[in-house]
Amino acid sequence: MKKYILNQKEISTLSQANVIAGYISQYQDLSNESINKLLAQQQLSSDCRVLMLDKDAIVTYDSNNGVMNGKIMLVGPVLDAIDGNNSVEQGKDGDGELILSAAVPIMKDKEVTGVIYYQALASDFSEFIKQINLTMIMLTVIVSILVGVVSFIMSAIITHPIRNITEKLSKAADEEEDYVIIERTSGGEMGKLIDAFNKMTAQIQKQEEKRQEFVSNASHELKTPLSSIKLISDSLLNTPDAPKEMVDEFLTDMNVQVDRLTRIVEKLLTLTRMDSSANVAKMDFQVADLTDLCSNITKALRPLAEQKHIELEYNPELTVYSKIERDRLWEAIYNVLDNSIKYTKEGGKVTMNLSKDESNVIIEITDTGIGIAPDEVYKIFDRFYRVDKARARETGGTGLGLSIALTAIELHGGNIKVESEEGVGSTFRIIIPITFQ
Ligand code: ADP
Repeated sequence: MKKYILNQKEISTLSQANVIAGYISQYQDLSNESINKLLAQQQLSSDCRVLMLDKDAIVTYDSNNGVMNGKIMLVGPVLDAIDGNNSVEQGKDGDGELILSAAVPIMKDKEVTGVIYYQALASDFSEFIKQINLTMIMLTVIVSILVGVVSFIMSAIITHPIRNITEKLSKAADEEEDYVIIERTSGGEMGKLIDAFNKMTAQIQKQEEKRQEFVSNASHELKTPLSSIKLISDSLLNTPDAPKEMVDEFLTDMNVQVDRLTRIVEKLLTLTRMDSSANVAKMDFQVADLTDLCSNITKALRPLAEQKHIELEYNPELTVYSKIERDRLWEAIYNVLDNSIKYTKEGGKVTMNLSKDESNVIIEITDTGIGIAPDEVYKIFDRFYRVDKARARETGGTGLGLSIALTAIELHGGNIKVESEEGVGSTFRIIIPITFQ
């Protein structure tokens, strides 16, 4: 701004000098009085000084009472003007005020006959700049205070809900509360954050409840065979002269319970392995022939079916390849097919079918078994859930087979769907996306 105003000032000083030079060039050999008169007509400001020089730079007229008359003025702008050029320069007077000095040639018949040296004091300019500086400082101070106040208020508004959350969390931590639900007091992003936090808390709560239920179920399941073993061993200890047949019977019973314990522990280990993401990352997914896999599973279970005189049918008409974790998928399909045989009465029929659509392979296992009541269907995938506990124990069921199957299928990005009717039979549909990556 300073530069711009100074530039304007220089231009006006030069043009003033030009006007005087043009005016004077119309006359010849003017006396000092005549020049005074001519300048008076120009109505120049009292702050300015006009000097007229001949082409040898000797002052012939000085509006300041002729102080410089007869003296040579070899200053830059004058020399420029003698060369025929307009020129202006900045300087300071004795009081340190800015002064602009312009020199322009007086031309007659395209010849330089003299020079007009015009000086103007720019005191108004300094004053103006001072004012601007003052205004700018004031503006800066006001704006800074305003920005400070607004920032303070804004940060208080923004951080209030965060402080609220932090306070509640630390209070909960101090009081050792398990879960904290934060009341939604604000909308916008903070409200969304609170919602997400509450959702996460609810999720953790659900997980924790599930975990506790699992631990209590597992303990219960392990306790039952252990109690039986304890009972049998106590009986044996209390009957020192028990006949051999009785001891054999007790030991056989004990063996059955130990087998049951082993089965439960093995299945629990399988589940834990699939629950740990570190273990899942280590799993070996490879492209394999699913038709072949299902065929091997039926082969493994055929003796069980034959034992119960159950017709086991599997006639795949297509070959499907996909990237799978062979052992996990084997276990999943095996468990479902094993159940169908287990929960089908003698002389029944179990059919396994393999088909595919544009993106999935569908393994359908249908039985003519006991079926599942509609209000039980959604529970059968829960850990340790058995529709008929007594009966399941007879068949060696642990209630973990289907939850292992579902976890394994979910690891493959798939799902299991069930359709069942009590007394008629069930259909388990295992759907797995076909992938090669
Ligand atoms: P289990 O080891 O007891 O078979 P699962 O998790 O494999 O445990 O199955 C859970 C329960 O679902 C079983 O106890 C049984 O009551 C029911 N179930 C599973 N498959 C069938 C089926 N094909 N027909 C009828 N009931 C079934």
